[in-house]
Amino acid sequence: MQCPVCKQRASSLPRYALSLQGVSLRQSLLGLLKCEHCGALLRTVRYSNNLWFAAMAGLALLTIVVALFSVERLRSLGNLVVLLYWVLLVIIVIGIYVYGIWKAAILEQVTDVQESKPTIS
Ligand SMILES: [Zn+2]
Repeated sequence: MQCPVCKQRASSLPRYALSLQGVSLRQSLLGLLKCEHCGALLRTVRYSNNLWFAAMAGLALLTIVVALFSVERLRSLGNLVVLLYWVLLVIIVIGIYVYGIWKAAILEQVTDVQESKPTIS
């Protein structure tokens, strides 16, 4: 995600994933964020095709993991191992999802917060 104002990276991945990025919770839910370099108020308008590549890569990775470690084989090791296996799969999926969204987000500067309506794109 590149800031359209200063042309630098608007937010690092940990900042994107773990913080509200300088806006209130309500603004964050509307898809708003502040650039970490220039402080411009930004909004995600759409996602580039990279998102589809990330989704495909995630799917391929999951297929490999499932093929390598079948649940049947893990079951003999106990329920805890099976549980950890599913937790790991969920973490991988969420991780790829967050990374893909972060990488592919195309931003636009918001000039008037009051008039901007949340758009699902
Ligand atoms: Zn900026």
